[in-house]
Amino acid sequence: MREIELTSIELKDVSKSFGSVFALRSTSLSVRKGEFLTLLGPSGSGKSTLLNLISGGYPASSGRILLNGKDITNAPPRQRGIGMVFQNYALMPHMTAFDNIAYPLRVRGYSKDDIRTKVTDALARVGLTGFENRKPKQLSGGQQQRVGIARCIVYSPAIIMMDEPLGALDKNLREQMQDEIKILHREIGTTFIYVTHDQEEALNMSDRICLMNNGGIVQLGTPDELYFQPISRFAAQFIGESN
Ligand code: ADP
Ligand code: MG
Repeated sequence: MREIELTSIELKDVSKSFGSVFALRSTSLSVRKGEFLTLLGPSGSGKSTLLNLISGGYPASSGRILLNGKDITNAPPRQRGIGMVFQNYALMPHMTAFDNIAYPLRVRGYSKDDIRTKVTDALARVGLTGFENRKPKQLSGGQQQRVGIARCIVYSPAIIMMDEPLGALDKNLREQMQDEIKILHREIGTTFIYVTHDQEEALNMSDRICLMNNGGIVQLGTPDELYFQPISRFAAQFIGESN
């Protein structure tokens, strides 16, 4: 395991509106150092908005966001040290797997030798050794997402956030990659914020689940707490639903 500085995040009364739409109502949340926290909720509940506020993709309408106690509410995205993995992979189609993964290192000015070492290590961690010269088109959906994950972990971000990363994959592959992501979390120990609308995925993977609905947090707790002690009818129905 690598030596890393673990990072906590705190949201204090953070809200975000788009015109008259309240995407996130005044929300407070503490993400613990090193934990695997999942934002779970139906489509439109505010999960991606919350991630974008933490990453700096959107400015908050009000409230404060702290990283290890430091106010980052208005910090530029690059300074936050947060890595993102997206459902649609967001790879650059004309670049090889190697160059896609190397990209965040190149923009940060790493040396050629450093880049080769780090990219080779990241490829190995996601089981893609030997695939470095393939372009995204020449890779399966699962392999493309592994490249997306490698590109995220390669520069050791303080926090890793994944927005429905397995949503485009079929059920068998999804279950396999859930296990791989859990192993990755255990190995690198970084704080993870994971987004899904799939309650089974959340129950399988999380240290804690933050259940969201209508732009707010409904319940925050361990998988067992949400499963056995749902706080409302919505929580009981959403967590209890089977696929
Ligand atoms: P989720 O990720 O849980 O599906 P989102 O955070 O994407 O939910 O969206 C929450 C609400 O905010 C939805 O009503 C959505 O339509 C609205 N919303 C999100 N992003 C934008 C945007 N860029 N412009 C306008 N409305 C948005
Ligand atoms: Mg979303």
